[in-house]
Amino acid sequence: MLQLPIKDVISKIQTETGLSEPEIRQQIVNKMTALEGLVSEDGAAYIVASELGVQLFKDTRSGAIKVKDIVSGMQAIETVGKVVRTFSPNTFTGKDGKPKQVGSFILADETAEIRTVIWDQRAGWLTDGRLKEGLVVKIKDAYSKQNNLGGKELHLGYKSSLILEPKNVTVDVVARTGVSKKKIAELAPGETGSVLGEVVQVFTPKFYPVCPQCGKKVTLDAAGATCATHKSVTQQQAMILNFVLDDTTETLRCVAFRDRAEQLVGLTAIETQEILAKDGPDRLQERIDEFLLGKTIEVSGRVNRNEEYDRTEMIVNQVNVSPDPKVIAKELLNSGKA
Ligand SMILES: [Zn+2]
Repeated sequence: MLQLPIKDVISKIQTETGLSEPEIRQQIVNKMTALEGLVSEDGAAYIVASELGVQLFKDTRSGAIKVKDIVSGMQAIETVGKVVRTFSPNTFTGKDGKPKQVGSFILADETAEIRTVIWDQRAGWLTDGRLKEGLVVKIKDAYSKQNNLGGKELHLGYKSSLILEPKNVTVDVVARTGVSKKKIAELAPGETGSVLGEVVQVFTPKFYPVCPQCGKKVTLDAAGATCATHKSVTQQQAMILNFVLDDTTETLRCVAFRDRAEQLVGLTAIETQEILAKDGPDRLQERIDEFLLGKTIEVSGRVNRNEEYDRTEMIVNQVNVSPDPKVIAKELLNSGKA
């Protein structure tokens, strides 16, 4: 089946990834070991090439598309972009009882940006520093789907490739956030915007059970947790954080879910629950206030009318807990505060 001699496979990997020959040979040996001798050296080389996104044979597909052209429900997506923000991965126990990780980052090119979801070993790259902000990446064989907020997301499955720093590729990115910067007083229900403001109040986080695979809320009964899509699952706890932002024009009630809530409190949902169980809600509140209260942050999302509580609130889609000081200074000048 394999038509290329191993030395040609290695040289192709070398050209496309910039890895050295010893590094590639080591990866091939590692792959053979990992597969417990079930593959030959040639077979392992082929797998390594595929995992690194190196196309050994001519690609018949149309090639890379721009981020703005990605719509929900596409398959075999190839795109190139820059990582403009990363989020810490979540760990949970998979159906097979083994630990699994899911993480995400924001991918941007000159046309748009998109939230991109990665799993397991690749999600680990977010913590070990291999996948970091500013890095150009090439993605192949990804698929897109709609997220909870009605937006689109890019997903990398086991067949997808994520190539870090492909050779001879540069990427310009759209202005951060992709949504217009607004003052709180200008935000009307139904609008999407990005605002910079000071956190003036934080409420104690709440938790709800979600599916570890898609992050959607699960229903609980005597038999356990059920996801509408993934059926019987081991539930994971997701965090919700309510807080109030003030930009001097007005205050804005914000609601952040999951990884965005985790970023805001500087703790994972699991860590937060541990503190809650061990030290109680008052100590947790103190710790969160200490971390977040008085901080100037940037949030973007959609503003909705919450009829139940008769208030306007932003469902936070993206959060930046340490915006560029230059951006803060500019905003302050614009508002006449500095
Ligand atoms: Zn699910």
